[in-house]
Amino acid sequence: MYKALYRKYRPRCFSDVTGQEHVTDTLRRQIEHGRLSHAYLFVGTRGTGKTTCAKILARAVNCQAPEGGEPCNKCASCVGIESGGILDVLELDAASNNGVDNVRALREEALPESLAGFRLLPAELGDQIGDYAAVAIGISS
Ligand SMILES: [Zn+2]
Repeated sequence: MYKALYRKYRPRCFSDVTGQEHVTDTLRRQIEHGRLSHAYLFVGTRGTGKTTCAKILARAVNCQAPEGGEPCNKCASCVGIESGGILDVLELDAASNNGVDNVRALREEALPESLAGFRLLPAELGDQIGDYAAVAIGISS
């Protein structure tokens, strides 16, 4: 099966991301010291690594054997998140799911207990989430 180049060559750990050391070093240190924030906003133009960093962060915080803030990419959590088999990481298309009702439905569908450790909702085009939806999802007050 054909795999798009950006997926085939997407970095799988922070040290493979180039040109974003200020972001990857900060995230790695936070994971290493257990000082995570409840929300992260990745902002930048197309192709700067926003989705890549969010996906690495999702694996790193749930990894069963992280090293230096990096995901191992081998444990059940890393493999499950990468394959989409772990429901603790639900990608949200914010361009078409930007209303309060969408967020409420998403929260109701989410499992009450996290399986891997942390539950993450990477929201593509998060700037299109409505004000009330941002409050409902917990990224604004
Ligand atoms: Zn792992």
